[in-house]
Amino acid sequence: MARRSVLRESAIQAAVVQHWETLGLPDTLVAAIPNAGALGQAGLTAGLSDLLVLGGLVRVGFLELKTARGVESEAQVTFRERCERLGVPCVLTRGRDEPIAVLERWGIVRRRVGRLAA
Ligand SMILES: [Mg+2]
Repeated sequence: MARRSVLRESAIQAAVVQHWETLGLPDTLVAAIPNAGALGQAGLTAGLSDLLVLGGLVRVGFLELKTARGVESEAQVTFRERCERLGVPCVLTRGRDEPIAVLERWGIVRRRVGRLAA
């Protein structure tokens, strides 16, 4: 089984953020939305994506990270569909390479010359 298919979501998120920290283009941002374990703050909203993305071609977008077998929650579907109605890109991705490929398409990170080493 490929190693990336067993990466936990937290490891995927760490890899994606580190990729942006290394190869992110000027005036872009990839930031965690710290919903996990957050309690008591006004405005907490179930289903927000894992990462807020600013800049590039999209200006604003969201990435929902999942493991190979992760399942989108009902609240996550609701949030993604709201984004679609508003014309805000919100993409469900699996594993480590998919979200990085989206960041490349969105012009948030420099494109890799070759594939990432497995
Ligand atoms: Mg997630």
